[in-house]
Amino acid sequence: MEILTETKLSNNKTPYYKATGKELDVFTKTFENKLPLLLKGPTGTGKSRFVEFAAHQCNLPLITISCHEETSSTDLIGRYIIKGAETVWIDGPLTIAVKKGYILYLDEVAEARPDVIVAIHSLTDHRRELYIDKLGETIKAHEKFMLIASFNPGYQKGYKELKPSTRQRFVALSFQYPDAKTEAEIIINETGIGEDIAKKLVNIGQKIRNLRELGLTETVSTRLLIDAAKLIFSGLPKRHAVKVAVIEPLTDDLDIIQALTDTSNLLI
Ligand code: ADP
Repeated sequence: MEILTETKLSNNKTPYYKATGKELDVFTKTFENKLPLLLKGPTGTGKSRFVEFAAHQCNLPLITISCHEETSSTDLIGRYIIKGAETVWIDGPLTIAVKKGYILYLDEVAEARPDVIVAIHSLTDHRRELYIDKLGETIKAHEKFMLIASFNPGYQKGYKELKPSTRQRFVALSFQYPDAKTEAEIIINETGIGEDIAKKLVNIGQKIRNLRELGLTETVSTRLLIDAAKLIFSGLPKRHAVKVAVIEPLTDDLDIIQALTDTSNLLI
């Protein structure tokens, strides 16, 4: 089943996460109060890594679902499948998490079909229960069950919005690109690259982020800078690494690619 490829339980290694504020405190208090949590922010700002880290710190199993436009409530809740001569019910990841007390992380929840939002509705208020219409059953959530969702705010073109009535059901944490010192530290930790190059990459990232007039749909994320650092670390020339890992993924416009290449070549 397709959904299984998008589902993973956390393993034993502590994920590396550099806190940029009080997000871990917010997480633990939100968990203690059995509230759902919404992580807002552009792609590559550490939302998913934070969830992996927080789940690990609190010793809670985690199921991550990357939502896309085909993700439906059936994918999350479960379905009947034919097994030999029988029809058997298979719990989906949401039902498993609700029953067993796992964290369910719905990455990019706004991208999913509207019935997903309807399905999680009664889990995001005082009821904390899941209604399975195909079984005619209502399940009370395990006391350790937690729902976390992420989304890209609407100021980024091409992303779907989350309705205010949905957003208001969650405690919300905002994620932004880290400050220069923190971002360099993350790049060094993730790749093993030297401080000098990490700082230069951060500089390039900041420069491109400030070029708002280019109208890029998405700008340079920490993830792209990490990719460039990885390529440089494994021997690709610096300028070439920046071009293929940072600039080319951002745009297909040849003039903009040239302008960004010229700008970044001055910095590395
Ligand atoms: P998002 O879920 O916001 O799209 P991710 O959590 O996947 O972003 O982050 C992308 C990559 O950037 C991660 O794999 C990690 O390498 C790095 N990263 C970003 N922010 C941090 C952070 N605060 N601490 C550690 N790694 C980070």
